[in-house]
Amino acid sequence: MLIFKEEKSITEEFRICTKCKRTLPATTEYFHKHKLCKGGLNSVCKQCRINESNKYYHENKETVSGKRKLYASENKEKIRLQQKKSVDKNKEHYVNYGKKWRQENKELKSSMDKEWRRKNSDSKRRPEKSILQ
Ligand SMILES: [Zn+2]
Repeated sequence: MLIFKEEKSITEEFRICTKCKRTLPATTEYFHKHKLCKGGLNSVCKQCRINESNKYYHENKETVSGKRKLYASENKEKIRLQQKKSVDKNKEHYVNYGKKWRQENKELKSSMDKEWRRKNSDSKRRPEKSILQ
């Protein structure tokens, strides 16, 4: 019980927030935990931290979206490759599906091909390729 009392006396200490200068109980209810700070608690109260991060968010809304744009422009190749990868994955799926479909619908397919060639006589592309590209 003595240990409990000691612990309690520590948590009952007060701490002045360095930001709003309010005197608040030095507990995790009012202050965020902070390993490097005195008493293991942040020197700025929770409310101030919240206000700060809200302010930062509002002030940097533009910057944040700008950063995203910057990332997109700096990582064009990376993003393009990622997109290509997912397209390739789907392509494989469609190609396999197409193969299976063609095997099962040979006659229908050949009549469709004839029809397609008739309509696209100026192009040498095959129909499934023109869809995928
Ligand atoms: Zn404060």
